This record gives sequence, C-alpha cells and structure tokens, in this order.
Amino acid sequence: MVDFSLSDTERDIRDWVRTFVQRELMPLESEVLRRERAGERGLPKEQLAQLRDKARQAGFWGVQTPEEYGGMDLSAVMAALIEIELGRTFVPFSFGGYADNILYHANEEQRQRYLLPTIEGERKSCFAITEPGAGSDAKNIRTTARKEGSEWVIDGEKTYITGGIDADFALVFAVTDRDRGADGGVTCFLVDRDMGWKSEPIEIMGPPDRMPASLVFDGVRVPEGNVLGEVGRGFALAMQWIGRGRYLLPARALGGCERLVEMAMEHSQSRETFGAPIADRQSIQWMLADSAVEIESLRWLVLQAAWQIDSGMDSRHAQSIAKLYGGTRANEIVDRVMQIHGGMGYTRELPVERWYRDLRLLRIFEGTDEIQRRTISRNLLKGHASVSGVLG
Ligand SMILES: Cc1cc2nc3c(=O)[nH]c(=O)nc-3n(C[C@H](O)[C@H](O)[C@H](O)COP(=O)(O)OP(=O)(O)OC[C@H]3O[C@@H](n4cnc5c(N)ncnc54)[C@H](O)[C@@H]3O)c2cc1C
Repeated sequence: MVDFSLSDTERDIRDWVRTFVQRELMPLESEVLRRERAGERGLPKEQLAQLRDKARQAGFWGVQTPEEYGGMDLSAVMAALIEIELGRTFVPFSFGGYADNILYHANEEQRQRYLLPTIEGERKSCFAITEPGAGSDAKNIRTTARKEGSEWVIDGEKTYITGGIDADFALVFAVTDRDRGADGGVTCFLVDRDMGWKSEPIEIMGPPDRMPASLVFDGVRVPEGNVLGEVGRGFALAMQWIGRGRYLLPARALGGCERLVEMAMEHSQSRETFGAPIADRQSIQWMLADSAVEIESLRWLVLQAAWQIDSGMDSRHAQSIAKLYGGTRANEIVDRVMQIHGGMGYTRELPVERWYRDLRLLRIFEGTDEIQRRTISRNLLKGHASVSGVLG
C-alpha cells in the first residue's frame, strides 16, 4: 500500500516547527527587510544565536546530526517537512547543531578541531570547489596543492563560495596529481583562515546572507594532517557534499511558494478592478490553479526523493528531478504572484520581489537546470533510471 499520511510523531515535529516559524520568525520579517535593504544581514549574529538556543532548549538541534553528536538524527522525510515549514518565511534561519556531511570523515584530531566545534556553532566552514574556470565542469579545477616536506602548498582561486566571507576554515579541493585529475588526483584539505587565505565578497542580486566570496590561495601552507579523507580521494568527497541534500533546496522553495500563493489569493480577493475582485477573473484563477498544481507536484517529488533516501535507495535521480522542477516552478510561481499583485508586487512594500530575487539562485547553484537535465537524461539513456519511476 502506498501511504501518503504522516505518523503522529512526524506531525508533532512538523507542527512544532510551524509554531516556531509563526511565533518566533514571522514577527521578524519587517525588521529583516529593513536590515537587508540597508545592506545588512537579515538577523544579527546574536539574535540568530538566541533563536537557535531557544530551539535547542526545546530539544530542537542538529536536525540530521547523528545522536552520538547530540543531534536529532531525523529522517530525510522529516528534514524535508522541516525545510518546507522554514521556507514559509524569508527570515534566513536554520536550526543549529549542524556540520558538513563530509566532515564526518575526519580523523580523531580533525574531529576535535573541526567537526565538534562546527556542530557546536563555535567554528564556521565553507565548501570551496568552484573556480573562475570550473563551475558546472567541476572536474576542470586548476587549484593545485604540492607537497613540500610535511606540508602541502596550495595555490589557486575559488569563487562564489557561500559563507566564504566569515568562515574560520574552508574545505578546499585541489589537484594533487594532474595526470589523474578527478579520478584519484584531487584532494580535500581543511584550511584555516589563519593559514593565509584571503576572501573578497562578491555582490549579488540576492539577499546579503547569500553573499558569496572569492578565496585566494597564494602559497598557503597546510600541514599534512589537514588532508580530509585520503590523498587523491577528494573528488568523491566533493560529490558526496553536493549530494547531501539536494532535495532540501526545493523543499525550502516549496514553503515559500505556499506562502506566496496564499498572499496572492488574499490580494486577489480584496483588490477590485472594473467593479469586481480580480479573483473573479479567469486569468487570475488560472494562475492560482496552475501554481497549486505545481506546488502539489513539487511536494510529492521532494517527499518521494526523501523517502528513497530513508529507504536506502539511490535517490540521485529523484533528487535531480525535484531540484530541476522546484527551480523552474518556484520561479514561475513567484513571477505569477508578482503579476497578481500588479505594481505593488514590484515595489519594496512587499517581500515578493525579495523572494523573486532569492528564488532565482535555485536554478543556478548546486547544479544548474541544464546540468540536472543532463543528469536526468543520462540516467534514462544509460538505463540507470526509468520513466516509469520507482514503482516500475
Ligand atoms: C550565490 C552562489 C553561491 C554559491 N555557493 C557555492 C559554494 O558554496 N561552493 C562552491 O564551490 N560553489 C558555489 N557556487 C557555484 C555554483 O555551484 C556554480 O555557479 C554553478 O555550479 C554553475 O557554474 P558556473 O557559474 O561556472 O556556470 P557555468 O558552468 O559556466 O555554466 C554557464 C551556463 O552554461 C550551462 N552549461 C554548462 N555546461 C553545460 C552542458 N554540458 N550542457 C548544457 N549547458 C551547460 C550552465 O547550465 C549555465 O547555464 C555558488 C554560486 C552562487 C551564484
């Protein structure tokens, strides 16, 4: 039997997050808009820390972090449901108690210096693979690391690195064997900022919290003990990082779409033109209907991808489908919602334009639309996936 219902526990957790979002985050929305429009981050660091502490006191900490590290170790389905709820506000918030999935490959010393403080929120990491000459084609990276005695010397430049402005350390992917390239010749290094890399912020159309940085490595010396995993095995780690939760990106966008369509419904019922609410016009009704169909489709794509993860299946195909569909549909939906709001939708009186700018990124980062299509079609043509889906 296919069962689309939530268990009582899943519902309780989802409802707890829903209440948290309504009580703690949504009241901050006007202030977030004001701050962002002044070029500041949505929430000051202290306020973000307070909110995370509040959630932690209620036992909400480390959504997918293993229990042995104090986390909740929730399922992928639960993580998706939580992201959908968080997405219903644009207040930039995520629960604390989290570290990059590949940091769990750390050895004992690295565990103490990097993994545990990152989970605790005492240190911040960033993931650095993209370069000016290598984005979609990540195998083409040119940053090098050469061995000198007991150290590695890193030279190169990374770009568009999220969190690169204030990270304490970077997970840096560099070529250690040019002949082998991505197949055994790329290594991942844990590189502290005080080892000598520099970062430069990159202005973007999205909100300040998204602002990435370029990182410059000019003869940065890294102790050999700072190789994460094995020398030459870095590319697989990079792919593991990227694949950690592709379904969570469209999940967050889905929450935003729900809220946006609710705003559009409310507006269309109160705004009158030519003697009647615009909601009476078929053109407006169709925009609402199409958006509802797409939101519902996206919900099941996201949850099905998550369910595949929880079932121990290879979910990459389903995750690519959810990411592609989420990116294109969310952008279409926010555009319709702006249209329904008319001139008001285009102003900064409302957060619609903020969502519009932010959602655009979903079609670009962590695999562009085109790269997802490439992956999906390859999977089909090579017989790794079927158009009949997982039920066969
Ligand atoms: C705000 C932001 C945050 C980011 N955060 C990070 C981060 O934390 N860490 C990190 O390492 N990177 C990060 N990135 C980089 C991001 O992952 C890349 O921008 C993305 O993978 C695309 O690479 P590119 O920009 O070089 O575009 P390109 O690869 O140059 O692509 C340009 C265009 O060509 C298309 N294209 C490319 N190859 C093909 C093909 N084979 N077939 C058809 N079309 C193709 C692309 O889809 C795109 O439309 C971030 C980017 C942004 C904008």
